[in-house]
Amino acid sequence: MRSLWIVLVLVLGSALLLQVVVASESRIPYARFRSLAESGELAEVEIRDGVYIGRTAPGLSASAPRSYRTGRIEPTEKDLLADLDGRGIPYTRVADERGLLPYLWLALPLAALVAMVHLVSRRATAAGNVSSAATAFGKNKARLYEERGATATFRDVAGSAEAKAELGEIVDFLKAPERYEKLGGRMPRGVLLVGPPGTGKTLLARAIAGEASVPFFSACGSEFVEMFVGVGAARVRDLFSQAREKGTCLVFIDELDAVGKARGIGGSVGGHDEREQTLNQLLTEMDGFDARTAMIVLAATNRPEILDPALLRAGRFDRRVHVDRPDLAERREILAVHGRKVVLDADVDLDAVAAQTAGLVGADLANIVNEAALLAARRRAAAVRQSDMEAAIERGIAGIERRGRRLGAREKLVVAYHEVGHALTATLLPTQDPVRKVSIVPRGAGALGYTMQQPREDRYLWSRQEILDRLVVLLGGRAAEAEAVGDLSTGAQDDLLNATELARRMVRELGMGQGVGLSALEPRRPLSFLGESRGAPSPGAGRECSDATAREIDAEVARILADAEARARAMIHERRATLERIAARLYEVETLSGDEIRAMMTSGEA
Ligand code: ADP
Ligand code: MG
Ligand code: ZN
Repeated sequence: MRSLWIVLVLVLGSALLLQVVVASESRIPYARFRSLAESGELAEVEIRDGVYIGRTAPGLSASAPRSYRTGRIEPTEKDLLADLDGRGIPYTRVADERGLLPYLWLALPLAALVAMVHLVSRRATAAGNVSSAATAFGKNKARLYEERGATATFRDVAGSAEAKAELGEIVDFLKAPERYEKLGGRMPRGVLLVGPPGTGKTLLARAIAGEASVPFFSACGSEFVEMFVGVGAARVRDLFSQAREKGTCLVFIDELDAVGKARGIGGSVGGHDEREQTLNQLLTEMDGFDARTAMIVLAATNRPEILDPALLRAGRFDRRVHVDRPDLAERREILAVHGRKVVLDADVDLDAVAAQTAGLVGADLANIVNEAALLAARRRAAAVRQSDMEAAIERGIAGIERRGRRLGAREKLVVAYHEVGHALTATLLPTQDPVRKVSIVPRGAGALGYTMQQPREDRYLWSRQEILDRLVVLLGGRAAEAEAVGDLSTGAQDDLLNATELARRMVRELGMGQGVGLSALEPRRPLSFLGESRGAPSPGAGRECSDATAREIDAEVARILADAEARARAMIHERRATLERIAARLYEVETLSGDEIRAMMTSGEA
């Protein structure tokens, strides 16, 4: 530890000296230098490679610089020399031998720094995991962990009803862990908040801490990623050992992806070693705390797909809570929460603001309210008016459009038809799970909208009819676009992939095709395909089959898909009016529950 201090003092000292050396020499314009030479203030002049250095006579004035420096100008050098000769000032030309000293001043701090880095990282690696030096670095930030502004409550978080409900359970548990223990229940240990940036993940975590009134340790993933090997791991260990001392507590790691990136992805400043060590330490800590302590580790990320799979395994971050972009009603609530903090004029219409801000997240909306308040202040007004809001929205939306995640009005309508197409077909087919929610709020990368179905029970067997009906639902989105818009869009690509995959499996693996025969052409795979099969086409590793058979398979797959598409189109066509009505409503409010959809369907048919 002491050697570190010595190194630090050396760095500072040499930097200071360098400063002093440079400061005693004054840089001046060439003309001034000449007038100094003429007036005889210089005692001697040195001519170097690119500069003249004039030294003053000692004792002239204590505060005056001891030497002057100016750039050399060769065409007029003769005149300068003549002046010096006339005054009797000695001058010498020094070949480029500045001496080692200036270099030394520059080199010293550098060398000291290199030494320090070397020292710390070598020690850290040598000690296997963590050295005393690294631990010391790790401890420096220890105070950051506990209760960093944990002042929020659930009231500060508008919308996100589902996330709040799920997290409410955790709050309950932290408040009275005995109750759960008595029943033998085991709460999740790690909970991952997943959602796009600005949707209020950090805010939710702070709210949980506020609600549960237990010790709250918070750290940001990027704090664990350091230059020096071992430092991040030491910090993780330090954080958890502090937390363990408290017993019941909440540990929050924001931006988990900074540490949790899958091993082997991308390089960061400290190289892979450092991040891997940190990640390993985190994994160890998550496994290490005993099941009886009421400690919950909460983490947030907006990029769950890049997390190391080891982090998501059972017993670690095995529970996910989605925090989605807000829909119309939620945006209205968020605006109300932030509107309370400023003075609003009576003409402000938050419903109108919410309607104009589709695609924006909580952080954007908070910004808009704040921006509007600033605009009002600039007008020296006493309250924020609707016109301030409108101006602020324009700015906010410009930013969103740059980030490219705002749907235009037409696109939004196409997505609405598409999703209602899925929802209608799913509701009409009794073999299919009931629709729980339909949304046209973009979720994650790529998905412009989504239809969520609620599985009635765990399933292990599917009948041929169920699979055929499933194909109809998958193609229902396209069918609705074709019916209402008269054209197809690229939005159905994923559906088409899933449908094709499903149809191929029917024929190749399940013997459900007609005229192709019973031989299974693919190796065994688990039959979970009625859930979300993530569109990967069948691997070519299937069993060999003849060209003739391959052609038959292709033909049969195409026939199955065409059948399903025809059924989907017929179903939608028959209910054109219902489709229009529900899509218009969805376009307006952005999310509809399954119950609302079912109600609108029956009321239309009556
Ligand atoms: P994230 O961590 O998901 O990127 P934050 O929690 O940092 O987002 O959100 C930034 C700010 O946006 C919050 O401090 C809050 O002012 C505002 N905000 C975001 N979501 C909401 C919400 N649901 N209700 C109220 N304010 C919100
Ligand atoms: Mg955040
Ligand atoms: Zn779709």
